[in-house]
Amino acid sequence: MFNLTHPKLVTLAEAEGFGGTTDFLEAYALDGIVPAICMAPDCDHTADLEPDQRAGFCEACGRPSMKSGLVIAGVI
Ligand SMILES: [Zn+2]
Repeated sequence: MFNLTHPKLVTLAEAEGFGGTTDFLEAYALDGIVPAICMAPDCDHTADLEPDQRAGFCEACGRPSMKSGLVIAGVI
């Protein structure tokens, strides 16, 4: 089941300049590198990572909490 309303996904889509999460997913669904966001409550750091990334290192807060937008959405 897709989750297109996750707050972090909305933040990530807006940070990348998209009007909504659907546009974001359509743009990156087939890409090898996609935008990811830190899942920590107090951190919204974004970076381009692998589409299936679930625990990437966050350069902003130092936690292994970077998750790709596709993973957050439940696409992967
Ligand atoms: Zn972080």
